[in-house]
Amino acid sequence: MAEFAPGSGEPSAIDAVLKRHFGFPSFRPHQREIVESLLAGRDVVALLPTGGGKSLCYQLPAVLGNGLTVVVSPLIALMKDQVDSLDELGVPATFLNSSLTPDESRRRWKGLARGEYRILYLAPERLVTPEMLEALQGWNVGLIAVDEAHCISEWGHDFRREYRELAILRDRFPRVPIIALTATATARVRDDIIAMLRMREPQVHVASFNRPNLSYRIIPRTSPLKQVLAIVSEHRGESGIVYCMTRNRTEELADALTREGVAALAYHAGLDSQERAKRQELFIRDEVQVIVATIAFGMGIHKPDVRFVVHHDLPKNIESYYQETGRAGRDGLPSECVLLYSPADAVRLHRLIDEGTDEQEKLVSRRHIARLTEFCESPQCRRVQLLGYFGETYTDPAGEPLDACGSCDNCLTPRETFDGTLEAQKLLSCILRIEQKAGFNVGLHHVVDVLLGADTEKVRKWGHESLSTYGIGKDRSRNEWIHFARELMRRGLIHQKADQFNVLEVTPAGRDLLRERARIELSRPMATARLSREKREQQRKMTGSIHYDEGVFDRLRAWRKATAAERGVPAYVIFHDSTLQAIAHEKPATLAALGRIAGLGERKLIEYGERILAEIRAADGTT
Ligand code: ADP
Ligand code: MG
Ligand code: ZN
Repeated sequence: MAEFAPGSGEPSAIDAVLKRHFGFPSFRPHQREIVESLLAGRDVVALLPTGGGKSLCYQLPAVLGNGLTVVVSPLIALMKDQVDSLDELGVPATFLNSSLTPDESRRRWKGLARGEYRILYLAPERLVTPEMLEALQGWNVGLIAVDEAHCISEWGHDFRREYRELAILRDRFPRVPIIALTATATARVRDDIIAMLRMREPQVHVASFNRPNLSYRIIPRTSPLKQVLAIVSEHRGESGIVYCMTRNRTEELADALTREGVAALAYHAGLDSQERAKRQELFIRDEVQVIVATIAFGMGIHKPDVRFVVHHDLPKNIESYYQETGRAGRDGLPSECVLLYSPADAVRLHRLIDEGTDEQEKLVSRRHIARLTEFCESPQCRRVQLLGYFGETYTDPAGEPLDACGSCDNCLTPRETFDGTLEAQKLLSCILRIEQKAGFNVGLHHVVDVLLGADTEKVRKWGHESLSTYGIGKDRSRNEWIHFARELMRRGLIHQKADQFNVLEVTPAGRDLLRERARIELSRPMATARLSREKREQQRKMTGSIHYDEGVFDRLRAWRKATAAERGVPAYVIFHDSTLQAIAHEKPATLAALGRIAGLGERKLIEYGERILAEIRAADGTT
């Protein structure tokens, strides 16, 4: 690896490479430190969120060092994408996998033996074959990068047995630094990675898991098709993913969207692998705007310009929600995450859990759902809550804690509060009355049935129509009562016993409230209305949107689409939207000015510079 003096203060070799090869004016958080550690020969664990820029962490040292960088990546489809992107940057890179013809494969082996490549992508199962390991010994390997390193851990969300075999690397390449990269934040996974790869005193870099360009919104699911269509229509010509709980629903929704004129396809594990690969490719190439998927979709998708992620149904837990929404906006541009919330989803998930046999597992799953419903129903800032879940405090750049992000639904349209004393009294006393009469506690839905004066089998069986609280809540809807009850749970006035079929119990604090007739403010259920124009504007501003000339942007996009099609690569391999927007904002008139824009390295400037300037002139001439 190249000699390098960290912290010298001068614009260093790494800054030059960053600008010249990658076209970026500055590093993202932790990238510089990670690159410096690697160049100093240290092992590194990099925990950066999706879109945090993990690839650059090994690609830059690969350009700067003088050996071969071997990148372990789980997905063959992804390798081609990465190699195409590196090609465009003028970095010699290649991959070996079963998709190559024998001729092509031989050609690449020869090139590798001659040291013509800086980067080699391999799947783990291929890397550990004796043949490959032996060849690598002769190819002057300078760095080993294990991407998606959480796959090595059973505690991760995507364990892959082949990753375990990577333990052999330390034996075979004792002096080569190893970098493990992942977006999974848990300490358990991190410890597993370090142990399995036998890393030596690795430097661990953990970035903030805040995704400032994502906005979070949770709305009650009332008419899902209409709601999804409304979101799609706000993203004309932009890609999105809609997650559903079941395969059937993905098919139904994709069909319904298609009938409404949206180019949409379903994606789930029930399709054969060829069909799945095809659909994924159509999405990546922007031939299909919306993918309606079960969670089987996502791991392999590194499409940087996914502008919206919709959860049609409740995800499994907060970690899944974070990972799935995280697939939006990898390129850093404002992107939207909308969850269509219905308390009924939680009930269904509970039923699924009840079918299980492992008691411990069931308890954990129930807690996960409880945390998630709490998150959905809470009036607190979504971002603050999400980061809090990962043990992180949301702060301003100076490190001061913040309690609002300004772009989520709860920040944009703060939940109204009202004097809920009466509602709280009705709920609490209803629970107590039932307990007195029946001698045991019951679940939320039965309590609400009694409040609403419903005629159900349980009401009749237990004689609950004779309770003084029977029917005293008819002025409110079922959803409202559920919402109020959940709020009282969050405030510790009602306790839900997760280990006893979720029955409700009034806590001592709840009894005090009732006895003292204390006043209490409750929040209204979340708003169903669409965001107003001003709110949308604010949402975009808070997630970093810039103003640019839309005429120029549209022209550049059209040009990019044609160029990408000619070369047989996805559009984002040529340029990211963020780069095109920056160009449409600056509208540079000279090559030198164009070269100062982020995302335009030397190679791309030479290749496309003149053409881009011509497009800008043409767009200006016509507007
Ligand atoms: P990850 O693997 O962490 O999800 P990627 O490596 O795919 O993220 O990078 C996400 C996007 O960020 C890519 O489009 C990449 O070009 C861009 N990127 C990486 N580093 C920088 C940087 N220093 N400045 C601007 N954009 C960057
Ligand atoms: Mg990555
Ligand atoms: Zn917020």
